[in-house]
Amino acid sequence: MEIKITKTTAPKAKPEDESKLGFGRIFTDHMFLMDYSNEEGWHDARIVPFGPLPIHPASTVLHYGVEIFEGLKAYRKQNGEIAMFRPIENIRRMNNSAERLCLPQIDEDVAMEILDTIVELEKDWVPHSDGTSLYIRPYMFGNDPHLGVHAVHNATYAIICSPVGAYYAEGINPVKIAIESEDVRAVKGGTGYAKCGGNYAASLRAGEKAEQKGFTQVLWLDGVHRKYIEEVGSMNVMFKINGEIVTPELTGSVLPGITRKSCVELLKEKGYKVSERLISIDELYNAAKDGTLEEAWGTGTAAVVSPIGWLSYKGEEFIVNNGVIGEVTQALYDELTGIQWGKIEDAHGWSHKVC
Ligand SMILES: *Cc1c(COP(=O)(O)O)cnc(C)c1O
Repeated sequence: MEIKITKTTAPKAKPEDESKLGFGRIFTDHMFLMDYSNEEGWHDARIVPFGPLPIHPASTVLHYGVEIFEGLKAYRKQNGEIAMFRPIENIRRMNNSAERLCLPQIDEDVAMEILDTIVELEKDWVPHSDGTSLYIRPYMFGNDPHLGVHAVHNATYAIICSPVGAYYAEGINPVKIAIESEDVRAVKGGTGYAKCGGNYAASLRAGEKAEQKGFTQVLWLDGVHRKYIEEVGSMNVMFKINGEIVTPELTGSVLPGITRKSCVELLKEKGYKVSERLISIDELYNAAKDGTLEEAWGTGTAAVVSPIGWLSYKGEEFIVNNGVIGEVTQALYDELTGIQWGKIEDAHGWSHKVC
């Protein structure tokens, strides 16, 4: 596939102080764009200077929210190579999300070639400091220029890249979580398993309320019974209860995280009993009460793991592992980040070399 590259004539200065990168505020010099129509399929693959997208005021995405996205990172490894972590998993998930929202599929090899091309072009934007990376945000949206409600005939695929700071610049501090009993993020049969903007729109209110009350994130319960634990914020969630690792099974309303999958694989190799099953809020409540809840943590690309130190439910507050990161959580963090930054051997072939 031909990707036409138009380089910027006005490259920006790279951020000098990498401790101030934050998340998703600075963007690289270029972006990838490709258009789809039923007649032509995917066409006009191009890398152009980063800038605004012209969009029709009736565009499907603006009215009906037909949008999906991905999030992955490119890392500057110890040996000087630039690599992505399991990017094929993001490509497959994007195609699954696309299927749910009636958006077109992208051939896996083509999608990989596109990722490799944009990351290689922007390689100097991959920051150098410990814990930093280049966040890659592929997204696809319905782009028909009329208001009729139906599966789209036109779509756009885009990729933007942002150098991001170390998530744990101040050390890994466990977070405070409120269990959300009113709003739900997704329901079985809906779009919970798809990484789509609409799921995020539905989750904002609970997140804001929790933040106002001094919590970092909410723990989502299932939308039907309001009983089974699904995710924490926009991360998957895992618990260590009485020696066993438990994570909610992928019932259709849970996002199949790549960090989740990687953690499950690593933990099974280490000999832990790992159960992907339903876990009710009562089970968690009882485990927190009788002391068998040994660890709790979220998993996702941005943070890798995020230890949970406090859980609030029905006005009661529980402390997990004395509010410090647990042994298993720490081991997962060390192993995954070790592979990502090339500090330990990548026995699974998870690290995908770009250049
Ligand atoms: C992206 C995402 C995750 C984490 O997925 P990773 O592939 O591990 O980054 C978890 N939950 C939701 C809702 C997400 O959107």
